[in-house]
Amino acid sequence: MSFPLDARARLTLPDAAALARHDAAVHRLRVERDRAFSSVPDLEALRDHAAAIKAHALDHLDRYLEEFEARAREHGASVHWADDAASHNRIVAEILAARGATRVVKSKSMLTEECGLNPALEALGVEVVDTDLGERIVQLGGEPPSHIVIPAIHRRREEVGELFHRHLGTPRGESDPARLMAAARADLRARFLAAQAAITGVNFAVAETGTLVVVTNEGNADLGMSLPPLHIASLGIEKVIPALDDLAVFLRLLARSATGQALSVYTSLVTGPRPGGELHVVLVDAGRTRLLASPVHRSALRCIRCGACLNTCPVYRRAGGHAYGTSVPGPIGAVLAPALSSDPAARSLPYASSLCGSCTAVCPVRIDLHGQLLAWRRESPALPAGLRLGARVAGAILARPRLFRAAGRALRRLWPLLERSFPGNPARAWLASRALPPHPGPSFAERWAERAGRAASQHRASGGREP
Ligand code: SF4
Repeated sequence: MSFPLDARARLTLPDAAALARHDAAVHRLRVERDRAFSSVPDLEALRDHAAAIKAHALDHLDRYLEEFEARAREHGASVHWADDAASHNRIVAEILAARGATRVVKSKSMLTEECGLNPALEALGVEVVDTDLGERIVQLGGEPPSHIVIPAIHRRREEVGELFHRHLGTPRGESDPARLMAAARADLRARFLAAQAAITGVNFAVAETGTLVVVTNEGNADLGMSLPPLHIASLGIEKVIPALDDLAVFLRLLARSATGQALSVYTSLVTGPRPGGELHVVLVDAGRTRLLASPVHRSALRCIRCGACLNTCPVYRRAGGHAYGTSVPGPIGAVLAPALSSDPAARSLPYASSLCGSCTAVCPVRIDLHGQLLAWRRESPALPAGLRLGARVAGAILARPRLFRAAGRALRRLWPLLERSFPGNPARAWLASRALPPHPGPSFAERWAERAGRAASQHRASGGREP
């Protein structure tokens, strides 16, 4: 098993400045999340409730999927089922081909990223334009999103200016966000008007009404669903919730967890096609029933893709999303990838974690993320020989108190050496971007012994009297 995250991280965030910028930008989202929740008095009960709704929906997913399909059909939608990414892409391609649609606008959908829809359609001569600003930036840059909510969070505005100069004809050196946004808007408006079809993701699908819920901040999905006559919605089967009342619970959590907003700017409920239009819903499995069948990993399907676990994860913040090599990065990506990705390297992602538990602490639907990562580690193929040996040595030392104390003494002596970056120093990778913490001084056992000795001599000096 290889560990490609490390090498990819160096490419994504090549220097200390890029790393610090990414870390700070992502951490800001975590701070905003905390601020937004500070005014929600019943937060913990709300999270319990959300987790219970999702757990119930997953326990009865077959029933709710059938109910959703029946209601959606009653309202005039066509419903398709896709076993895997290839069948999802084929179904979408066939729907477009049957209507002669070759110009498509797409709003942000992690599922279509997961399925590789854009390259599949482009190979058939279909022009697909991503309309979310962040998605458009990464599309023009020829790269995948690096964050599930803010796809271009790894890019500086100067880099965006350069991309827009090359693709949209903005003046060279332009980096003013408002002017760059205006240029993107003008370009996208023309593409919306020329589009023959729109493809959107779906945040939630309500079984009792057959309703699709699409949440955005830019209104691009709404424009796509309103202008072209054909709307194709790609929907992972785990997105189904039982009732409209449940939606209120998730909407209170989603935007707060993602960006610290009380609500996203646009929350659209779509029940059936617009007058004169067509609506196709493609329900995608692509490995989800495998997760559903696993009592250990089922809870990962509760995910509402808020991104909060990415924003708090020390590994994601310092590695960047591209380092994971999967459509969904961060802790939830590392939990989903071993089940959903066909790339054998995905089995190494559960090791991309410090197991600090911060992801679990912020997850609005209470997925035990670090527990899941540990569970995948247990199920993983063997560790690389170096790590296996390291774990054995550590285990042997930790099991023998004398050896543990001797190793501690040796390491404290070697500390000045460890602080230097020389080939062969086990702390070298760490030292490339940060300093070792200060020397810890005497061990706890040494301090304890010294303190006990002091107390005993004071006791003797006082003639054995209690203080
Ligand atoms: S696992 Fe939880 S915190 Fe992470 S994206 Fe999903 S819902 Fe959000």
